[in-house]
Amino acid sequence: MKCSKCSEKAVFLVPKFCKKHFIDYFEKKVFETIKKFSLVNPKEKIVVACSGGKDSTAVLYLLKKFHKKVVALAIDEGIFGYRNKTLIDLKKFCSKNNIELRIYSFEKEFGKTLDEMLKQKQHPCSVCGIFRRYLMNKYARGFGKIATGHNMDDESQAVLMNLMKGNVDLLWHSVPMTKKVGNFVQRIKPLYFCSEKEVAAYALLKGFEVSFNECLYIKDSFRNQVRDALNNYELENSGTKLNILKKHLLMLEKIKFETSFFQYCSVCDEPAKEDICKACQLIKSFK
Ligand code: SF4
Repeated sequence: MKCSKCSEKAVFLVPKFCKKHFIDYFEKKVFETIKKFSLVNPKEKIVVACSGGKDSTAVLYLLKKFHKKVVALAIDEGIFGYRNKTLIDLKKFCSKNNIELRIYSFEKEFGKTLDEMLKQKQHPCSVCGIFRRYLMNKYARGFGKIATGHNMDDESQAVLMNLMKGNVDLLWHSVPMTKKVGNFVQRIKPLYFCSEKEVAAYALLKGFEVSFNECLYIKDSFRNQVRDALNNYELENSGTKLNILKKHLLMLEKIKFETSFFQYCSVCDEPAKEDICKACQLIKSFK
């Protein structure tokens, strides 16, 4: 099968492109998202939340190419057999591309790895999410924004999950750039309109040395159920994920942005919805 733009062999089917034209198409789409939603300001330094996986590595590479001023920030949750391996890939990538990498770990910050915390019967993804967001926000302070590798699949899943759970406030998080609220560092998602398949193809074609394995804890998660259902639906109804995001953005334009009330944690001074933030409540429960 031939590329729709030249006589080379197609390496990607929808759209039908050869290696060169697929890379051009993908990079153009990401750079257009950055420009259309004004994701970066020329003066600021961006911190990229990295895991060593394909999505965040692609964002790191493309933001370095587009904006130059980037630093990689990784959180080592302490998931044996998974995160230790992806961090090796990330260290190699950053050293090869001359990018500063900062790594913070659950063990050093909270006294236990995620694996050890789970021996206390906590749900892996909720514990992981609370502590990871906490550290990201804490260590990204002082930078212009945090860029994440969330792609179209992740974001359409998040919209459905929040609707299903009635988390209306969280719908405002599933956007290319979050609003500025208190001392939360704004998040940007340059891969918002790129499907998971497109990101995987880009990472492979660019020869990024990244692992395509997933964290073993994802199997138990609500996200995994929504992901499977949405993937099945997309198979029969192509374009569903993109439609969810387009309609979601249109809907947000028509409603007023209201932040739920938040204050600062009386223990650590980070943003909190209650007197003590979720991270400090969890740390207390481990004692
Ligand atoms: Fe953390 Fe869950 Fe993601 Fe694993 S799947 S890295 S436990 S949020």
